[in-house]
Amino acid sequence: MDAFPDSPSARDAWIVAGRGPRNRLDPSSAYAAFIETEPDEFGLAAEVTTVFLTNRECPWRCLMCDLWQNTLEVSVPPGAIPAQISKALTALHPSGIRHPAPGPRPFLKLYNAGSFFDTAAIPHSDYEAIARLCSPFDRVIVESHPALINRRFDEFHSLLQKHREGASTAAVLEVALGLETIHPVARDRLNKRVSLDQFRTAACRVVESSALLRCFVLIAPPFLGGDDPVASAVETARFAFDCGASVVALIPTRGGHGAMEQLLASGDWRPPGLIQLEQAFDLALAERPSKRSGVRVFADTWDLERFSACPACFSARKARLERMNHHQKAEAPLPCVPCRR
Ligand code: SF4
Ligand SMILES: [Zn+2]
Repeated sequence: MDAFPDSPSARDAWIVAGRGPRNRLDPSSAYAAFIETEPDEFGLAAEVTTVFLTNRECPWRCLMCDLWQNTLEVSVPPGAIPAQISKALTALHPSGIRHPAPGPRPFLKLYNAGSFFDTAAIPHSDYEAIARLCSPFDRVIVESHPALINRRFDEFHSLLQKHREGASTAAVLEVALGLETIHPVARDRLNKRVSLDQFRTAACRVVESSALLRCFVLIAPPFLGGDDPVASAVETARFAFDCGASVVALIPTRGGHGAMEQLLASGDWRPPGLIQLEQAFDLALAERPSKRSGVRVFADTWDLERFSACPACFSARKARLERMNHHQKAEAPLPCVPCRR
């Protein structure tokens, strides 16, 4: 394959040309759903129901993104998304959504491998039905490209508030935006096509409307040159805090799909190691703004084995990250003789 091109349209074509087949999905079902816990802004464990919606592929072609593998080439018909949510919630909560008091607050993540406010993915006519299905939850977390924080975001936010009337005064919508990196070269070459100013404008709109902001930050994206991936991730987390993020999620950049393998072969990408994720997590926790309480940093621990080069300490490192995700306090780094060597 040729070197990574300069023009946006040639980049799209280069990225798509390196892809393999997508997974076969059923538009009548979410492609995954499960319950996990994460700490809320008060340090209490929230019960997070996560539903991965089956819908049309995102129109962007970000270099590091493998989410297209679990998408469709066509839009789903109106009604399909509420049906997917309803089916997943019934399977996970056969007795309904509990509000134990005291007990974990129920949160709902509706992740759609793209942007919730992309109306080719989530039909606008479904917003009302989706908002109604969300009403038993204390918080609804969706993801979006920053360019789609527009009137559709305002409409969905208003609908959620309408269905929560009288129940709570808490902010109910949290929007996850992919900040990825503020490294100037890597950022341009990721093909995300959003400037830092545009990102900040979108983030302000979320925060000023009393929704909450979650930011995704990559550890070791491609095209960092010789720059330190840990320092770059921490600088990016600092930018996210400055934009008003309540949550920063640190995501190790994953390969395994065409474009990233080409960049690995050409030397333009060095995959992150588990220790870099740990270091970035330790430092980002310490960088949280002191004037705002409840700001959290999470390390993404999905599929973590692939980043470990040392079987001797992997389980202990994973357990340390999981405890830190839960308690939001850095623990002493783990010693490991093979790792030091
Ligand atoms: S905007 Fe998000 S979902 Fe779309 S290609 Fe980029 S990273 Fe993937
Ligand atoms: Zn080790």
